[in-house]
Amino acid sequence: MRPFEYVRAREVSTALAEAAADESGDYLAGGTTQLDLMKDGVLRPSRLIDITRLPLRGIEERQGALVVGALVTMEELAANPVVVRRLPFVREALLRSASVQLRNMATIGGNLLQRTRCRYFRDPTVEACNKRERGTGCAAITRSNRTHAVLGTSPHCIATHASDVAVALIAMGAVVHIIGAHGRREVALTGFYRTPGDTPDVENELRPGELITAVEIPLLPVDARSEYLKVRDRTSYEFALASAAVAVVLGEDDVMRWARVGLGGVATVPWRALEAEAVLTGNRASSEVFTNAARAAVAGAEPRSQNAFKIELAQRTLVRTLQTVTGVSS
Ligand code: SF4
Repeated sequence: MRPFEYVRAREVSTALAEAAADESGDYLAGGTTQLDLMKDGVLRPSRLIDITRLPLRGIEERQGALVVGALVTMEELAANPVVVRRLPFVREALLRSASVQLRNMATIGGNLLQRTRCRYFRDPTVEACNKRERGTGCAAITRSNRTHAVLGTSPHCIATHASDVAVALIAMGAVVHIIGAHGRREVALTGFYRTPGDTPDVENELRPGELITAVEIPLLPVDARSEYLKVRDRTSYEFALASAAVAVVLGEDDVMRWARVGLGGVATVPWRALEAEAVLTGNRASSEVFTNAARAAVAGAEPRSQNAFKIELAQRTLVRTLQTVTGVSS
């Protein structure tokens, strides 16, 4: 690991000032991914600004939404009674995302910013990685790409986004609260992440020195049902090959009056499947409608040499989740 300077901030204004003083610095919260990447030489910040003492640990119910401080841990959020009652699929996504030890350290803000698990990104001995260094190429396109993305890709990067909870949050239309040298702003999670295009190293809308202070999650309608299904190579401590976060409000006639769908493990960003939602909304729950929604969700998918199976897997994952959440399987 390269030497770096360590500073601790106790106020948000101090953290912002420390970040402004050195553009190659980085904020440190739970550090569960960041420190590994530093040890491997993938991240090389000149200084770490420890933000764990900042007053960003509250969870507050406010006007039909839950406002979650960026430093709330994944375990704290999963245990919150409002999440248990009104956002059960967010809780499921949190519990399926990591071990208890990691959930006790990792923060919700850090989870949204976690880096890809692409093996070439994490191995600095591999030169070709546009996400690590723009213009070097993409090893995954010509080499092993079984776990890589089929949605939102570009010829420059096909890395999947690794977060589980972001899949449920994007389905809910969550909003990220940000503060920086020029003030506060709010960005919808759907617009927060950037697909790789020709700049895979730019992953989101955060500007230099900006800090996530909170995530605002609209609560599910009281009569909604929800489910998060994660399909992976082994049942614990593993990232998704495909996942689906689904919430619906089902009328007495089995018509889906409201539907939200997020997909994970198959896209370069947490994926809001608006096309699937359009197919579901206003239609009676049935296998045919579920299949049509799943087809719509992956309509733009682009497979590589080893990951075409993900297109089928994503559809099956979504159909299964819809069956579970509606109780309709025929
Ligand atoms: Fe790098 Fe993206 Fe290619 Fe992986 S998929 S090697 S992260 S450019």
